[in-house]
Amino acid sequence: MKFSELNLEASLNAAIQKLGYEDCTPIQEQAMNPILDGNDVAGLAQTGTGKTAAFLIPLMERILRARPVTGDVSEEQKAITDKRAFKDWKPQNFILILVPTRELAEQVQENVTKLSEVSGLRGFAIYGGTGYDKQKEALRNGVEFIVATPGRLIDLYKEHLVDLKQVRAIVFDEADRMFDMGFKDDMKYILQRVPRERQFLVFSATLNFDVLNTAYQFGSEPVEINISRDQAKAENVKDMIFHVGNDEKPQHLLSLLKLHNPKQAIIFTNFKLSVEKIARFLVDNGVPAMAISSLLTQAQRNRVIEQFKAENNMNILVATDVAARGLDIKGVDVVINYELPNDSESYVHRIGRTGRAGTTGSAFSLVSEKDVEALARIEDYLKHKVEAGFLENDQLVKEFKPMTFQREDGYQKSDKPRGPRGERGDRGPRGDRGDRGPRRDNRGPRPEKREHGQQGQERGEGQQRKHGGGQGGRPEHKRHDGPKRHDHKRGDQSQQRGDFKKGPHQHRKGASAPKRAPTPPKQKSVGQKIAGFFKKLFS
Ligand code: AMP
Repeated sequence: MKFSELNLEASLNAAIQKLGYEDCTPIQEQAMNPILDGNDVAGLAQTGTGKTAAFLIPLMERILRARPVTGDVSEEQKAITDKRAFKDWKPQNFILILVPTRELAEQVQENVTKLSEVSGLRGFAIYGGTGYDKQKEALRNGVEFIVATPGRLIDLYKEHLVDLKQVRAIVFDEADRMFDMGFKDDMKYILQRVPRERQFLVFSATLNFDVLNTAYQFGSEPVEINISRDQAKAENVKDMIFHVGNDEKPQHLLSLLKLHNPKQAIIFTNFKLSVEKIARFLVDNGVPAMAISSLLTQAQRNRVIEQFKAENNMNILVATDVAARGLDIKGVDVVINYELPNDSESYVHRIGRTGRAGTTGSAFSLVSEKDVEALARIEDYLKHKVEAGFLENDQLVKEFKPMTFQREDGYQKSDKPRGPRGERGDRGPRGDRGDRGPRRDNRGPRPEKREHGQQGQERGEGQQRKHGGGQGGRPEHKRHDGPKRHDHKRGDQSQQRGDFKKGPHQHRKGASAPKRAPTPPKQKSVGQKIAGFFKKLFS
């Protein structure tokens, strides 16, 4: 579906065109109309699928349609406006988007800014770890979108700076991560204070039961959006996983490319900021590589794709899922997953980029401890284990320039093990809870405010939040320690490699070999899952 077919309000349409978006991504195609019609939505979509625009565009449309119109309006436009507009939208009304981390808050806010460039809608990101003054000022001036991490939002609510009664739609973005990070009580607190008649949208990367239960408990018959499954795994693709330490990925990537010498290869990464880094690493080591991510404009992406299609000798493209969307390149003989995608359908989709048009192809996935949960989901989805391979010592490239990353300030750093934060690309929670960081250092305790906004997690390397500690008595969250991270300090790499190279799934006891995550329950329909777990939520 093309954006031009959606009959969007002119200023919104202009902003979309400016961004170079022409076709809706699958999540956008499915989410757009239900949201425009005012429905609640529970959408399963991960980062990189275009999910932010999938909820922002229709919500913006609903606000813009609620603005008084001057001049003549066609009957058709009038009918669209009547159908889509938020009824009785008042200047103090706003949309609340809750996100788990400050990085995501900024990223979503960036999308708000770009999409409102022409319409002049206003948004503001509020999260902890920064001063209150700017946030207070923005709230006083009025905004149509508040993008917030839950803790700071509650603090501002308690200071009467945010009136939750003015919320017309509430969005939970990366809802599963919010639950994982222990925001359940905060989410409940907020949901209980916004009007009952608001629109409620929940987006989540995984079929996390809490998420879906929330959608059903607090939404009214949400429209479920689940990107259609393409279970038919490409038959002529041989896929294989390589268990490696996270820091061994560059070496293995290089070694696999040198070993297989593909004509055309696509390397997938989950993080758009890693795209450039990986491509530069390859180029530095004599492997010509191109990078394509959503950081490039559509026109730039098109140029890279054309170049990639035109050359077909040792031609490497490093890409994120969304950037590679719609790529139909016949000659790709190798696909490498630098990280496993979080959802299983993307895996099938990625490896299906090779072995096209009757040719055979290979798909290799570098699986570190960070990827094991994704691997379990993928294998469950495929209903079989993916064969594990390993590189012999003489197949490993020994001398190579390390992977580096360039910061915006020009500072260049070797991508050596960096402690428990590890490499998280553009999204990583860095072990923090978004708004839970430095505020304690900056501002000192505010005991009377901390009942819900207890944000005192130290973010020091490897430190963990003490449950129920500190003043203020925040209810103790059932919280796991965030996404599993590879502990670089455990054991040296050669030890790890030794373990991995013993063969498929053989690991020496006590070493840092990846643990298999427990296999998630068998796939049921979204509806079944919701029905089964509905009652558990908030009990
Ligand atoms: P998200 O999944 O929301 O993080 O989006 C990933 C990236 O895809 C963002 O950088 C968007 O700018 C880009 N994007 C979103 N929708 C589209 C679209 N329809 N066409 C091209 N790029 C898009």
